[in-house]
Amino acid sequence: MLNSNYLIINRKPQKFEKLRIAGRAAVFIDDAGKVLDNGVLALDDSVYAALYCDEVRNITIVTDRGGRRDVFTILWFSEEGYRNDSESLRKAYSGRFSRQNLKLNRYAESIAEKLDNGVRLRVTDAVDESGMKVCPECGMMNPVESGYCLECGAEI
Ligand SMILES: [Zn+2]
Repeated sequence: MLNSNYLIINRKPQKFEKLRIAGRAAVFIDDAGKVLDNGVLALDDSVYAALYCDEVRNITIVTDRGGRRDVFTILWFSEEGYRNDSESLRKAYSGRFSRQNLKLNRYAESIAEKLDNGVRLRVTDAVDESGMKVCPECGMMNPVESGYCLECGAEI
């Protein structure tokens, strides 16, 4: 169990106390009231995908700005904190939230990797799990009859 909220930027974790939406940015603040390193996330067109998984209170955002890709993973230790902040984030950046399963971080990494290679893939929800199976490599949901992942080609 987590005992703090975490903001993980490109795999580097930092604790945060509060998330504030200021205009078109989310600002992450530590327990001393200071803004975290790179703790300002613009909520504009640079956000390529915003993946979330309620079960693990995780929102992972892939940004694509001027040829630079970053992955922001936000984790909450309390259900209440998650609910409040995720609602603010969703409002501030409506329209691009995509529901995912537990493998959302791996999926986010694969989206960022594809962007690096100039491929802009369509981000899809992983909502209906009936009759679907999850790719062990990228977390993508695939029809149960498929032997290979439609997203990354890995054997399922
Ligand atoms: Zn896959």
